[in-house]
Amino acid sequence: SLSIGIVGLPNVGKSTLFNALTKNDALAANYPFATIEPNVGVVGVPDPRLERLSKIFGSAKIIPATMEFVDIAGIVKGASEGQGLGNKFLANIREANAICQVIRAFDDPDVTHVDGDVAPGRDIETINTELILADLQTIEKALPRLEKEARTKKDKEGLALVDAVQSAQKVLNEGTTLFAGAAAAGIDLEVLRELHLLTAKPFLYVFNLDEDELGDEELRGRLRDLVAPAEAIFLDAKIEAELIELPDEEALELLQGMGQEESGLSQLVRIGFGTLGLQTYLTAGPKETRAWTIRKGASAPEAAGVIHTDFQRGFIKAEIVSYDDLVAEGSVASARAAGKARMEGKDYVMRDGDVVEFRFNV
Ligand code: GDP
Repeated sequence: SLSIGIVGLPNVGKSTLFNALTKNDALAANYPFATIEPNVGVVGVPDPRLERLSKIFGSAKIIPATMEFVDIAGIVKGASEGQGLGNKFLANIREANAICQVIRAFDDPDVTHVDGDVAPGRDIETINTELILADLQTIEKALPRLEKEARTKKDKEGLALVDAVQSAQKVLNEGTTLFAGAAAAGIDLEVLRELHLLTAKPFLYVFNLDEDELGDEELRGRLRDLVAPAEAIFLDAKIEAELIELPDEEALELLQGMGQEESGLSQLVRIGFGTLGLQTYLTAGPKETRAWTIRKGASAPEAAGVIHTDFQRGFIKAEIVSYDDLVAEGSVASARAAGKARMEGKDYVMRDGDVVEFRFNV
């Protein structure tokens, strides 16, 4: 499955967050490099629709979609030159499909900041600079070979690749990540895929705030502006760690007391899933209600293939009711009677929340 790498400076709350995410009770330690081995956790994607559907269908169990989080060792200045755990850090991050930066915004005299004081903007720049430098190194190494190949083969693709790599180099030299700067520079990141550039991955940001800052709209707006167009999630990692110890109802009460409807962890997983370019469709019956993971833009046969390759090969059609229609009508039979059940063929592009039954030959 696809994974999100959690990165950030030491002591910003990465382990606290990761442990809360995976309900792993390994202790979060108060010193740099506490997380030396990357930890991988599989996390269920929260989706209130599953509960509702399982009631309609009388399902015996619910199976949510899952995704992976990898807790990657803390980055420090000079990581791109092998400082700290530099090389290991870069290798781990290269394997992740998206990057979640945890940025410290909480104040706590008992928790040292590697650079002396709490400054979210500076920290984001420190991390991005290391990732940008690593990408520039990758490009400097690859470019002579790519240029030579393009010259000898004179193929269009090779030339387009060299062109894209040179444009990427320019963006990076200006101190901009490819995620933030590629579109404006007219670079198609698909073309650059084979270089496995770090800053070409989708980014999202978690700001780890003090409890009393959670409702501070002015601060949130300022932090959001620092990272746009990336998604920003605001939470207090310490509170998140406490919330998972509570029964659901008490947790919700506590959250609402802080003016929140959804826990930070839940937001992180939900938004992270979208950042990976993924969406779900749903199946439901007496045995189970289940969310299946597909990439955004997947066709109906591709969606069927996630259940079984035979379903894709033998795909005939899919009977689809949207989740909202199904809930409004109360059952598939009523949805059919109301003309809300659609028969879709092999060119149908799946939509989020489609409740599906596939028809296929075996
Ligand atoms: P990492 O090095 O980024 O993995 O950071 P840790 O998760 O190990 O956290 C470092 C220290 O900061 C620990 O003592 C945590 O208890 C503390 N910490 C983490 N999140 C918060 C927070 O939101 N508020 C406060 N006050 N302390 C936190």
